[in-house]
Amino acid sequence: MMNKEQYLASLRKLKPVIYCNGRKIESVVDDPMTRPHVNSAAMTYELAHDPEYNDLVVATSSLTGREINRFTHLHQSTDDLVKKVKMLRMIGQKTGTCFQRCVGLDALNATYIVTHKVDKECGTSYHERFVKYMQEVQEQDLMIAGSMTDVKGDRSKKPGQQADPDLFVHIVERRDDGIVVRGAKAHQTGMVNSHEMLILPTTNLGPEDKDYAVACAIPVDAPGVVHIFGRQTNDGRRLQGDIDTGNAEYAIVGGETLTVLNDVFVPWERVFMCGEYQYAQEYVETFAAYHRQNYGGCKVGVADVIIGATAAMAEYNGVPNVSHIKDKLIEMIHLAETMYNCSIACSAEGHKTEAGSYYVDTLLANTVKLNCTRFMYEISRLAHDIAGGFIATLPYEADYKAPETRPYIEKYFAANPRIPTEHRIRMARLLENMTGGTALAESMHGAGSPQAMRVMLYRETNLEHKKKLARKLAKIEQ
Ligand SMILES: Cc1cc2nc3c(=O)[nH]c(=O)nc-3n(C[C@H](O)[C@H](O)[C@H](O)COP(=O)(O)OP(=O)(O)OC[C@H]3O[C@@H](n4cnc5c(N)ncnc54)[C@H](O)[C@@H]3O)c2cc1C
Repeated sequence: MMNKEQYLASLRKLKPVIYCNGRKIESVVDDPMTRPHVNSAAMTYELAHDPEYNDLVVATSSLTGREINRFTHLHQSTDDLVKKVKMLRMIGQKTGTCFQRCVGLDALNATYIVTHKVDKECGTSYHERFVKYMQEVQEQDLMIAGSMTDVKGDRSKKPGQQADPDLFVHIVERRDDGIVVRGAKAHQTGMVNSHEMLILPTTNLGPEDKDYAVACAIPVDAPGVVHIFGRQTNDGRRLQGDIDTGNAEYAIVGGETLTVLNDVFVPWERVFMCGEYQYAQEYVETFAAYHRQNYGGCKVGVADVIIGATAAMAEYNGVPNVSHIKDKLIEMIHLAETMYNCSIACSAEGHKTEAGSYYVDTLLANTVKLNCTRFMYEISRLAHDIAGGFIATLPYEADYKAPETRPYIEKYFAANPRIPTEHRIRMARLLENMTGGTALAESMHGAGSPQAMRVMLYRETNLEHKKKLARKLAKIEQ
């Protein structure tokens, strides 16, 4: 298992093409725009070497019997699934943001299950190939970006019906030694500081969309790959100091990219689906269920920090014991723990798949994420209520540091006399960072927009069974 320093060194060896704000990023480790995201992901490496978290972050490989980082593990029991959630909550508490590595973990586990099924039903040999790849991922402790979401163009149209065929990633050439793919993946979390990306389809497909049924692994710096780094709320503040960024060490969400694949060659040993369109939907749903499981872990870790910051703000403002404040804090705790409950439940109710790995209860996993699309907003709303308007109107850090204005800010933003004004400002900036713009949009759309979960809830619920229960009690004969 790599430690933090080894992870940073491994990133320095890669040469991805990354554009950000009109320039190229030469080193993701050293560039101020990407370094906070690197720090967040590095936590997943660092904690694997901390004896306190060994049980959560270290697992035993089902493929080699060796110790591996849990972010490269194929889940072997419901206990593994539960530990994943606990690990995510714990790291969310330490970073206060997205630490990115779960997307690849979920893509790997989904691919393991789906390749097994495709091989069994189609006589292909993707699974064996994937197992070899998985061993590499585990042995080298790679960070994998989970690359599902295509740019999708006109949302009412299937891939082959789009005005531009490249709006979904597709195979443009099949060769003796591999395939060539073209298209782009959007919103790619942790991409610039991953080692490889695992491409998978984004939607259900028909026979006319065979070329869009593609899964493969591609190094982030493969020829033809171009990353365009996404802008986040207040990210320019990173270049101006540390107070105004709120969480200077770890930033906001996962440092997403638009990743363009300009005729990228992929050797056959890295291709895990090539034309089996009938399995695209199951692939998407399997990945999505694993990914939705996470939100009651990582986002609850983040919510723990928001709740702590909100309680601190109440104290700094001098109103910690006011009844409506306590009530609102209780509500925030309730919402956070409800999300956590759902994640634990979908893990504990998981089951063994035919491939031998463990999979979550999909109905419950979709409940987790649907709750998250609402509860993180409500938690943030309550945090804003308690923190006060100055999280929206605070002066610049530069003015706080300037001799002409600092005395005024010190004097007029003082509240509880036991608390230095700077603490009140720092806590407000942390809350501003964690409860606005980009951070909330991730809770809404990450792992799918709410409607995607609603569709799954309707599909996974046995309404006929429920109607039967009701008819029986109402003494209605069919
Ligand atoms: C911060 C963040 C991180 C992310 N990280 C990753 C990642 O690491 N890897 C990855 O692969 N993806 C990632 N995603 C992508 C995420 O899964 C998508 O944002 C999500 O699936 C929604 O897709 P979209 O953004 O294209 O929204 P859209 O598809 O444009 O959806 C917008 C709205 O339109 C509705 N809509 C769209 N199409 C239809 C339709 N055909 N019929 C009816 N309604 C429709 C949706 O329900 C939604 O309400 C991330 C997203 C965010 C915001």
